Amino acid sequence: MYDISIIGAGVVGCNIARELSKYDLKISLIEKSYDVSNGASKANSGIVHGGYAAKHGTLKSKFNVLGNKMYEKLNQELNFGYRKTGGLVIGFEEDDLQKIKELYENGLKNNVENIKIIERKQILNIEPNINPKVKYALYSEDVGITSPYEFTIALAENAVENGVELYLNSQVKDIKKEKQYFEIYFNDEMIRTKYIINAAGINSDKIAKMVNANNFKIIPKKGQYIIFEKGTGKKFNNVIFQVPTKKGKGVLVTSTYHGNLMIGPNSEETDDREDISTDIETLKNIIKTAKMSYPDLNMKKAIRTYSGLRASSDKKDFIIEESRIKNFINVSGIESPGLTSSPAIAIEIKNILSKIGLDLIKKEKFSKYRKPIIIQKELSDEEVKKLLNEEGPKKIICRCERVYQEEIVDALTRNIEVKTLDSVKRRTRAGMGKCQGSFCSSRVSELIKKYKGVDPETYKNQWELLKKLKKLT
Ligand SMILES: Cc1cc2nc3c(=O)[nH]c(=O)nc-3n(C[C@H](O)[C@H](O)[C@H](O)COP(=O)(O)OP(=O)(O)OC[C@H]3O[C@@H](n4cnc5c(N)ncnc54)[C@H](O)[C@@H]3O)c2cc1C
Repeated sequence: MYDISIIGAGVVGCNIARELSKYDLKISLIEKSYDVSNGASKANSGIVHGGYAAKHGTLKSKFNVLGNKMYEKLNQELNFGYRKTGGLVIGFEEDDLQKIKELYENGLKNNVENIKIIERKQILNIEPNINPKVKYALYSEDVGITSPYEFTIALAENAVENGVELYLNSQVKDIKKEKQYFEIYFNDEMIRTKYIINAAGINSDKIAKMVNANNFKIIPKKGQYIIFEKGTGKKFNNVIFQVPTKKGKGVLVTSTYHGNLMIGPNSEETDDREDISTDIETLKNIIKTAKMSYPDLNMKKAIRTYSGLRASSDKKDFIIEESRIKNFINVSGIESPGLTSSPAIAIEIKNILSKIGLDLIKKEKFSKYRKPIIIQKELSDEEVKKLLNEEGPKKIICRCERVYQEEIVDALTRNIEVKTLDSVKRRTRAGMGKCQGSFCSSRVSELIKKYKGVDPETYKNQWELLKKLKKLT
C-alpha cells in the first residue's frame, strides 16, 4: 500500500515526487514511457519566465512568479543547468508599445520585480544583433533559461535516491476507487494507494475520467521549433520575445542553456495526442517571424526540428486541486509557464495533501544534492582528435559535443534504468551535435550493450512496435 502515487513523470510529477520525498511517505511515480521527461517536459522552449505575461489573478501568474524564484537554489542542489539571462519583449510599432505597457502593468500587479520599458538605443546596447528597426521593449531581468529534460531527470534521480519508487514502461490503464484506497492498474500489475496525484500532462483528462474526477477537457496545442549548431546562441544574451498574440507568447529567439540558437514555437490545436512531427509550411512561418527579431538568421546552421504538445485545458488556467473524488488530486492543464511554475506547484500539492489530512513528518535523512552528469570542459580540436582513440574514461565518444566515455557510463549506471540512445542523449548530449549522432550512435550503442546487456536499437524498435500494438487493442 502506497501513501501516494503520482501518475506522470514529467517536470510536474518529478517536482512533486522530489518535494514529497522529504517526508516519511511511501511514494510511487508511474510513467508510461521508457524514461522520465518524455512528454512536454522534453520539448519546450526551456524558458524560466519572468511572470509578467500570465494574466493577473490566475494560478499561472501565481506559480510562475513563485517558481521563477526557486530555480537558483534548485540548480545549486541538483546541477541540471540554469542561468538568469534576462528577456526582452520587443515591438516595432505604436500598437506594440501599447501591448508592452499592458504587459508591464500586468507584471507589476503580479509583483514581478526588475521590469522596465526601454527604447531603441538601450535595446541595441543590450542586444546588438536584434533587428535595428526595433523601437520599444519590455526588459525583464529575471527571465532565465534551463535545460528542461535535465531538470526533470535530476529531480527524478534525487526523488529515487530519497526512496520514491519509479515505475517506467507503465501506462495506467484503469483506476478503481475503494472505500479507503485506490487500485491502479498498469501492465500486469495492480498497486494500492491512499492518495493519487494526476500529473499525466495531455492525458490527465483521461486519467481523471477513470474515477469520474474529470470536470475539464485537454485540448492539445502543438508548438514547433528549429534548433541551430552549438555556439550560434552566442548572438543573444537575452531571450527575445515578440509582443504576444491571441495564440500565445509568439515566436521567440533564444540561446538554449547549452548555447544552441533556437527559434519557435507556433501554436496549433490538434486532436492527435501522439503526433510530434514537424512540417515545412509551419517551419517557414516560424523562420519568417523569427527574422523580424533576428534578420541575419542563418538557416545553413540549422541542425534539427522538433515539436511539443501543450496540455491546454478548457478552463484556460492550471487546475491544481483535490477533485470531487476524495484524495484524488488533479494537476492538469499545465501548459506554459508550467516548466517555470513546476517547483512552486509541488509545494502547493504538499500543502493540499496536508490540508486534506495527510500526516507530513520530515525524514531525518533527506539527501538534497545530485551530482551533474555532464563534465564541463574546454577541448581544442587537436585534443579531441587525440582523445577519440584513447582507451578509458576520457575517451571521446561524441565528437561534436565532446562527450567522454565516463559521462556515458555515469548516465548508464545511475538509479534510473537507461537503455536507449535517446535517454543517453538527454543526459550527456551525445548525439545532440552537428552530425546528430551519425558519428557516435554506434559507439554509444556498444556501451549500452556492455553495461545494460541490450541492443538499444532493438529495444527502441520494440518500444515503437509495442506502441503500435497497443493501438490495435
Ligand atoms: C511548445 C511548448 C513550449 C513551452 N515552453 C515553455 C517555456 O518556455 N517555459 C515554461 O515555463 N513552460 C513551457 N511550456 C510548458 C511546459 O513544457 C509544461 O508546462 C510542462 O512540461 C508540463 O509538465 P508535465 O509534467 O505536466 O507534463 P509532461 O511532461 O507531458 O508529463 C506528463 C507525463 O505523463 C505521462 N503519462 C501520460 N499518460 C499516462 C498514463 N496513462 N500512465 C502513465 N503515465 C502517463 C506522459 O508520458 C508524460 O511523461 C511549453 C510547452 C510546450 C509544449
